[in-house]
Amino acid sequence: MMGIILFDEKTKCCACGACKNICPKGAIAMKEDEYGFLYPQIDEKKCVQCGICKKVCAYQNGQVKNTPIKCYAAVNKNKVELMKSASGGIFVAVATSVLKEGGVVFGAALDFEDGHAHPHHIAVREISQLYRLQGSKYVQSAIENTYEEAKEELNLGKKVLFSGTPCQIAGLYGYLRREYENLFTVDVICHGVPSAKMFDDFLQNETNKRNVKKIKEYIFRDKKRGWGMNGKIRFELKNGSEKTVYIPARLTSYNTFFLDGFNYRENCYSCKYANSKRPGDITLGDYWGIERENPELLKNKEYDIENGISCIIVNSKNGMKIMQNIINLSMYETQFEKIANKNGQLKYPSKRPAKREQIMKLYFQKGYRGVDEYFYRNYKKQIIVHTVFNAFPIGVRLKIKKVLHK
Ligand SMILES: Cc1cc2nc3c(=O)[nH]c(=O)nc-3n(C[C@H](O)[C@H](O)[C@H](O)COP(=O)(O)OP(=O)(O)OC[C@H]3O[C@@H](n4cnc5c(N)ncnc54)[C@H](O)[C@@H]3O)c2cc1C
Ligand code: SF4
Ligand code: SF4
Ligand code: SF4
Repeated sequence: MMGIILFDEKTKCCACGACKNICPKGAIAMKEDEYGFLYPQIDEKKCVQCGICKKVCAYQNGQVKNTPIKCYAAVNKNKVELMKSASGGIFVAVATSVLKEGGVVFGAALDFEDGHAHPHHIAVREISQLYRLQGSKYVQSAIENTYEEAKEELNLGKKVLFSGTPCQIAGLYGYLRREYENLFTVDVICHGVPSAKMFDDFLQNETNKRNVKKIKEYIFRDKKRGWGMNGKIRFELKNGSEKTVYIPARLTSYNTFFLDGFNYRENCYSCKYANSKRPGDITLGDYWGIERENPELLKNKEYDIENGISCIIVNSKNGMKIMQNIINLSMYETQFEKIANKNGQLKYPSKRPAKREQIMKLYFQKGYRGVDEYFYRNYKKQIIVHTVFNAFPIGVRLKIKKVLHK
C-alpha cells in the first residue's frame, strides 16, 4: 500500500506540527531540511495508515471564519511591561489576566543552551515567568508538544491562552478538532520566519567574530534606543565576565535579510493567513503609521512613539470577552484599513524576492559565514548610513525619521 504523503510541495507545510502532535503511534518527527526548516517525516515502520495526520492539517484543509469586529490602537499603561515588550505590551496584559484566573499561557520563548539558541513554544503558569514569552522572536518557534499539552489543560477545564503566528493558531484548531469555551487565542501579524538553524548559525558566527565564549541572551527588539528593530546581545567572555552589545537590525546580515524577506520559510511567500481573515480570537501587531493614521493620539502622553504602540484586532466573540477583562491598557478605537495601510501582511503575503534563492544557496554552500561575508561586501552603503544615523541621540533620529516620512 502507498505510504501517507503529508505534503507534496514545501509551499503546503508551515511546520505547525499538528500532524506530529496527533499521531497515535508517535510515527511523525519534525526533521530539518538543508536550510534548517522543519518538516514532518513519517517513520513507515510505526505508521498504521490511519490517516488522521492528513485530516488535522489546517494549512492544507482548514478554513478561517473570523473577520475583524473591532480594531484599536493600544498601549500598556505599565511602563515596565511596555518596555519589555516589542510593541505596545498588549500580550503581557492579556496573559496576566488569564494567569490571574488560574489559567495557562502558551507562547514563544527563546532559550539558550550552552550558547545555542532554542526558539520554542512553552507553557507558562506563573506571572513571574511571563517575561520569557514577551518580545518578538523573528525566527520560527518550534511547537514541540504544546498542542497536546494545551489539550490536556483544556480538558481539565482550565482557561488556556495560546499565542503564536497565525499558522500556529490555525494548526492548534486543526489539531483540537472541536470547540472549547475555555480556549482563547492570540495571533500576531506575521510576514514570515527564518529557520532556527539559520538564526543559531548567525549567532555562532557573531560569537566567533567577536572572540567571545558564548551567547547568553538575544533580544530582537530592545527599546533602549526606541521603538524599532534594535537588537541586544549578552555575551559571556572567555574570562567568565559578561558584555552586552546593542546592534541595530540593519547592521546585521540576519536581521537585514529578515526585514527584506530573503530568508523566510518557503510557504511564507504564499501564506494563506496574510489577510483580514484571522485564525486567532485577537490579532496583535505594531501600529506602524500611527503618526499619519491617528495623529490625534500622539498628543496623549500614553501613546509615545518612542516606546511602542500596538494595534489590536478583535476577531471573535471570545476575543471580545477576553478584552473586556483586561485592565492596565489604554485603548482607542480605529479602523482595520488604517492599521493595514502600513502593515501589508494584513492584505497579502510577503513577496518572494529573487535574492532569496541566492542567499539560501550561499548559506547551503558556504555556511552562515558565507552569508555574512556577502552582507559586508554588498551592503557597505547601508552599513555606513545606519552607523551614522544610529550615532545620533534618539530625539534627533526621530526628527530625521519624521522628515523622511513626509
Ligand atoms: C515572526 C514575527 C513576525 C511579525 N511580523 C509583524 C509584522 O509584519 N507587522 C506587525 O505589525 N507585527 C508583526 N509581528 C508582531 C509584533 O512584532 C509583536 O509581536 C506584536 O505586536 C505583539 O506585541 P506586544 O508588545 O503586545 O507583545 P510582545 O511581548 O512583544 O510579544 C509576545 C507575543 O509574541 C509571540 N511571539 C514572539 N515571537 C514569536 C515567534 N517566533 N513565533 C510565534 N509567536 C511569537 C509570543 O508568543 C507572544 O504572544 C511579528 C511577530 C513575529 C513573531
Ligand atoms: S497515518 Fe496515522 S499512524 Fe501513520 S503517521 Fe499518520 S497519524 Fe501516524
Ligand atoms: S499539519 Fe502542519 S506540520 Fe503537518 S503537514 Fe500540515 S502544515 Fe505541515
Ligand atoms: S508568514 Fe504565514 S506561514 Fe509564515 S510563519 Fe507567518 S503565519 Fe506562518
